[in-house]
Amino acid sequence: MTRPEMSTRNPTPKRIQPSIKHEAVNPRDYLKYNLPWACEDCSHYNFENDNCSFGCHVKWHKKEYQKHAYELSGRMALCRFQEID
Ligand code: SF4
Repeated sequence: MTRPEMSTRNPTPKRIQPSIKHEAVNPRDYLKYNLPWACEDCSHYNFENDNCSFGCHVKWHKKEYQKHAYELSGRMALCRFQEID
């Protein structure tokens, strides 16, 4: 048996959260180390088709976007699936 006041309430709208998280990278580490942080450094990146073998959106993890994001905010969208040979 449902309570009448519960059945007339609107459901709580789901919060829309960004799926891409940008993480802070220490500027000293960024300048000191040659870190592989972009799709172009990853074994899953297909240069010919400009896509990822996992089907991830490469737009957020490619070098050009990463550099731009880092210069603006000190943060990068690091990919959790990146693999390096
Ligand atoms: S796994 Fe991540 S870093 Fe590698 S190609 Fe796909 S999106 Fe890019």
